[in-house]
Amino acid sequence: EVRVRFAPSPTGFLHLGGLRTALYNYIFAKKYGGVFILRLEDTDQSRLVPGAAESIEDMLEWAGLPPDESPRRGGSVGPYLQSQRLDLYSQTAKQLVESNHAYYCFCSSQRLDLLKKEALRSGQTPKYDNRCRHLRAEQVQEKLAQGVPHVIRFRLEEGVEPFQDLIFGRNHHDVAQVEGDPVVIKADGFPTYHLANIVDDHYMRISHVLRGSEWLISTSKHLLMYRALGWQPPTFGHLPLLMNKDGSKLSKRQGDIFIESFQKDGVLPEALLDITTNCGSGFNTNRVGRRMDELISEFNPSKITTHSALIDLEKLPEFNRIHLQHRIEDEEQCRLLIKDLQGQIQQAFIAEIQGRDVLHEDYIRRVLHLRKGHISSLKELLSPVYSYLWVRPSICSQQVASLTAEAHHIASLVLKLIAERGEELALDRLNKDLKTLAKQTKTTKYRELMKLLRLTLSGLQQGPSVAEMMVSLGPAEISHRFKKLLL
Ligand code: GLU
Repeated sequence: EVRVRFAPSPTGFLHLGGLRTALYNYIFAKKYGGVFILRLEDTDQSRLVPGAAESIEDMLEWAGLPPDESPRRGGSVGPYLQSQRLDLYSQTAKQLVESNHAYYCFCSSQRLDLLKKEALRSGQTPKYDNRCRHLRAEQVQEKLAQGVPHVIRFRLEEGVEPFQDLIFGRNHHDVAQVEGDPVVIKADGFPTYHLANIVDDHYMRISHVLRGSEWLISTSKHLLMYRALGWQPPTFGHLPLLMNKDGSKLSKRQGDIFIESFQKDGVLPEALLDITTNCGSGFNTNRVGRRMDELISEFNPSKITTHSALIDLEKLPEFNRIHLQHRIEDEEQCRLLIKDLQGQIQQAFIAEIQGRDVLHEDYIRRVLHLRKGHISSLKELLSPVYSYLWVRPSICSQQVASLTAEAHHIASLVLKLIAERGEELALDRLNKDLKTLAKQTKTTKYRELMKLLRLTLSGLQQGPSVAEMMVSLGPAEISHRFKKLLL
């Protein structure tokens, strides 16, 4: 059975890099009929960020990557929060101590600091000298009885066997050469990442570990622990990093790569997923506009390369425009967009909406269908360019009259036309009508006429085509706006 997990630490909010790791895990699970698990690795209590744990799960749901098992949803191998599994880690550590794969270490922080300083002074990488490996059993018992503060360290064996990474191929790091024996249980009784991570992957029956390539160098260490415990390790696949298109690090400090800020900016989750997969490898082809079912069917793990994925966030509006169009064209999704927009319009214009029902579902739907493919977010419809849709422009007839002496005449021609056309206005037809109308004016040229019509309808000098404005506003509102010119 395929069981994969996304295992972030709630030491920060979900950002684009994390979302991408979750996404590959999700797609992998769905492609092979498996289970996608969210596990929160909250063992570093000093670095927890309040609200991050909740928010990470919220964001996965928002993005359309709902876990099958998680802290919120539960599941048969829970709890899914490491801080609630402490017994399991200390039991395992004890098991390691008993089999002589781990030992108690009583070295004080002063001693460790000193070791570090000495190493640095002589130009070496600091590394624990494994001194407590050699304590005799009685010494250990005595110190434990005296209550001397201690940690538990894993005894690193030399000569690690290579392993086969799904993406990076044959790999191997002789950890003992570069590191001292790593701590597995800290002085506060909490496990370190390395222990908790493998214990959970084992007991949660994880089949494939797909995680960022920054963990590649830790894998040999993890494999030594699996071996010491007599456990079958999962298959590992390390995903290349996500970077800015200029090759610089996608910094969390940029602030705008947090998923919550994309959400706030009106970015659609499917656009975000599409852009993050389009810049990387792992798919049979790359193209804009892919939806989840297509991502799943086009996913091909053997195509994941070791190159970093370079993301160009300037292209995000383009991705959003295409996915927004998809949503507008789907009746059910469109209904949700309408609801969303109703709320936004009400908030933005409530004081100014006079006498007409701009919140009507049919009206908003018409606007959306006319503007799809042009707008890249719903929010755009609340910008000044589109305010004519929701509130009447505050232009006075003198302003219009100053454009041409024929303003009055033109207004009556428009009113006549609208009366003839009835309720349903169509773009093509109106475009022809406007050309005919231009022939009925004496001194006003076509371009000037359009300028006058646009100004009267919207108060704008430029914007969507006049015919489109008319179709969106509808006959009653057009008449209202032109009648003013007759006064
Ligand atoms: N808690 C680790 C992280 O935050 C998980 C790494 C892994 O997937 O093993 O990235």
